[in-house]
Amino acid sequence: MRSFFLLLLLAVAFTYGLPSSKKRFDGNQVLRILPKSSDEILKIVDMGKKYNVDIWNIPKSLNSTLDIHVDAHNLKEFVAELKSLGTNYMTWIEDLQKLIENENVHSSHVKSRAAASFSLSHYHSNFQISNHLDAVALSSRYATVHTAGHSVQGRAIKYLKVSSGGSKKAIIIDGGIHAREWISTAVVMYLIDQLAMNPDNNPEITSMLQKFDWYLLPVMNPDGYEYSRTNNRMWRKNRATSHSITGTCTGVDLNRNFGFHWNPAIGGSRDECEETFAGTKAFSEPESRAVGHLMQSIRGQAIAYLNLHSYGQLWLWPWGYTTSLPSDLADLKHMAGRGAAAIYPSHHAHYTTGGDATDLYPAAGGADDFAKGGAGIKYSYTVELRDTGRHGFVLPASTIIPSGEETLKGIIAFASELYAYERL
Ligand SMILES: [Zn+2]
Repeated sequence: MRSFFLLLLLAVAFTYGLPSSKKRFDGNQVLRILPKSSDEILKIVDMGKKYNVDIWNIPKSLNSTLDIHVDAHNLKEFVAELKSLGTNYMTWIEDLQKLIENENVHSSHVKSRAAASFSLSHYHSNFQISNHLDAVALSSRYATVHTAGHSVQGRAIKYLKVSSGGSKKAIIIDGGIHAREWISTAVVMYLIDQLAMNPDNNPEITSMLQKFDWYLLPVMNPDGYEYSRTNNRMWRKNRATSHSITGTCTGVDLNRNFGFHWNPAIGGSRDECEETFAGTKAFSEPESRAVGHLMQSIRGQAIAYLNLHSYGQLWLWPWGYTTSLPSDLADLKHMAGRGAAAIYPSHHAHYTTGGDATDLYPAAGGADDFAKGGAGIKYSYTVELRDTGRHGFVLPASTIIPSGEETLKGIIAFASELYAYERL
C-alpha cells in the first residue's frame, strides 16, 4: 500500500511538477550605464562576471545603455568597483521583486475571438498557449496548427500557418526564443488572433492574407518559458543539461546556437554557466533545429523573418556575427524603416533601426543570421519590442494589447511595402 502511495505521489509530481521554490529578487537592482567606449563595455562586462551579474542590455551604439541586473548581496562591492573604473551609473530599477509582483496586475480581459476564456491581455502558460493554438485552428478558416519539433523536455514547439490558399510568399514571425522575454510571446498571440480571426473585419488584414502566407510561432523555447514562470523569472536559455560531465549548469542561449557562422568566441560563450552559452556545436539544441528546419522547409517561399525579442524598441538587420554589412543593405534598411515608422502612431512608442552587430558588440549564431544566410530569407530581422528599460523584461500585462496593436501596424506596413517593393 505504501509503495502505491509513493507511486501515486511520483505520478502527481511528474505530471504537475514538484512544488518548487520560486527565486526571489528582493533588493536586486538594475543599474544603467552610458558607456564611453567599447573598451569600457568589455571591462565592465568582464568585471561583472565576478559578481555574477545578469546583463539585461548590451548597447548597440554609444548612445544606448548598458543595463545590468545585480543581486542585492553583491550590490555594494559591484558599485564600488564600478566607481573605481570611473564609470557613472544610475539606479534604474530600485527593487526587481516589486516589479515582478506588479507584472500581472491588469485591468482588462480582452477575449480572443477563437475562445472567450483566453485573454489576450494576460501572460499564459505554455500549456494554455498550446491549447489555444488548437482552438484557433478549429475556429479559423485560414489557420492550421503544426509542430516544428520538440524541446529538450519534450514539449511541442507549435506554430500556426495562416493562409487563404494558393501559393504565396511567406512571412515567419516567432517569439519566446529567450525565455524571460514574455512580451514577445504575448505579441505573437495577439498577431495570431488578428490574422487568423480578423475580429474587426479589418480590410488591411484581409489584404495581407491575400498577399502572403503567415507562419506564427509564439514559443520557440517552451521549457525555458515555463521555467521562467515557475522557478526563475529571469531565466533566458533553454533547459538543456547534458553539456558536461559535471553538469553544473543548465541551458543554452538559443540565439547563439543557430548554424550560420556559429562561433562562441563572437558574442557568445563556451562556458555552460554563462547566459550566452552557444552550445557544444551549431544546432546542438532541438529548439533551434526545429525553427531552422521550418525555415528551410519553405526555402524560396519565405521572404521575411521577424525574430521577436525584448527589450529596446529596435528593428535590426543582419549580420550579427560580423560588423561587415550585407550586400543588399539598402533594401533591408528601407523595409526596416517602413516597419519601425508605422509602429509609432498607435501609442507613440519610438523604434530605432540599425544593424544587429555593431562595432561595439557582434554576436554569432543568431536566428536572424541563419534565416538570411542559411535559409535564404532576404528580409530577416531581430525586432526588440517594448520597452526602453523602465520595466525591462518585466513588462506589465496591461501593456500587452498596446504592444500588440502597434506591432500589428508595423507588420502590416512592412508587409504591404514589401509586396510593392519586391513587385510580388
Ligand atoms: Zn532576446
